[in-house]
Amino acid sequence: MRALVYEGPGRITLGDIDEPVPADGEVLLAVDAAGVCGTDRHIVAGDLGVPAGTVPGHEICGTVLEVHGDADGWRPGDRVASLGQATCGTCPPCLDGRSNRCRTPEILGMARQGGFAERVALPASCLIGLPDGISDAVGAIASDAIATPYHALDTVGRLQAGETVVVIGAGGLGLHAVQLARFLGAARVVAVDPSAAARDAAIAAGADETLDPTVDDEPARALRRIARGATLVLECVGRAETVELGLGALAPGGRLVVVGVGTDRPRLPPLGMFIGAELGVLGSFGSTTVEIRTVLDLIASGHLDVSRSIHREVPIAEAATVFTEPLGPGRTVIIPREQVK
Ligand SMILES: [Zn+2]
Ligand SMILES: [Zn+2]
Repeated sequence: MRALVYEGPGRITLGDIDEPVPADGEVLLAVDAAGVCGTDRHIVAGDLGVPAGTVPGHEICGTVLEVHGDADGWRPGDRVASLGQATCGTCPPCLDGRSNRCRTPEILGMARQGGFAERVALPASCLIGLPDGISDAVGAIASDAIATPYHALDTVGRLQAGETVVVIGAGGLGLHAVQLARFLGAARVVAVDPSAAARDAAIAAGADETLDPTVDDEPARALRRIARGATLVLECVGRAETVELGLGALAPGGRLVVVGVGTDRPRLPPLGMFIGAELGVLGSFGSTTVEIRTVLDLIASGHLDVSRSIHREVPIAEAATVFTEPLGPGRTVIIPREQVK
């Protein structure tokens, strides 16, 4: 079958590889669409040490072809989205409904073969049925670009109606975070991004105000002035300076939720200030099948507008170059199947 295969730093090519063989409890999916995430760009650049021969792609939407062994609940022909990682289903966090914290996760496209291929084998426990009316492209990105900020704002950040929310980084995650914050009842939403196009998109998504953090010598002070008392800040960038910017913008009692992944080590404010203001710093990772189901239902019922979420759809034969192209506003989605359904 055709697949995009990572061959080493800077090299990904369209190859002809063996068909996946599902294990007991797994299904074979025909991949209908797979989203290109920032993580995939890091994989292809060689930043993440993924072995050569890996097929990336962890934002997957597909149609069930075969069900193997104990994979109850799914039938050939079902349209599904997938979690971004295969979870064990038996460790304490998995049993507790917190599968995003599974102790032995296998991230798709890194620890096992991912979705930039015509077919992929996935554990049945990773799948979420697609409601009618959800396109393949939106089904593909729901698990990551939409459910990740939902988990961060609702489950981790416990956003309450009436709060002022700041979203730092208005890319794929951040633009959905702006909409979700609105849906969850934020009274005021401020988006921060150095890109003018991203700031315009944030306003279109429902932000009240935006800030270009590069125009001011003291962006934290500018952000405090614009936000007028942020009680919840969502950091979607994954850098020390943006985490510190978020901390500096918090009102007393506020909390910062970090979704951006990276290797930086941000600093806390001086302890007297940090403790006196009772600030909270929280990490947030991924989402669960229940949360993905929730955002899919929000989209299907018209509560979330995803009309600008997809930048473009690229046939797999032309997709090897998308990993080095500039990120558009919205996700690029790869279409592996040969024929239109
Ligand atoms: Zn991702
Ligand atoms: Zn587990």
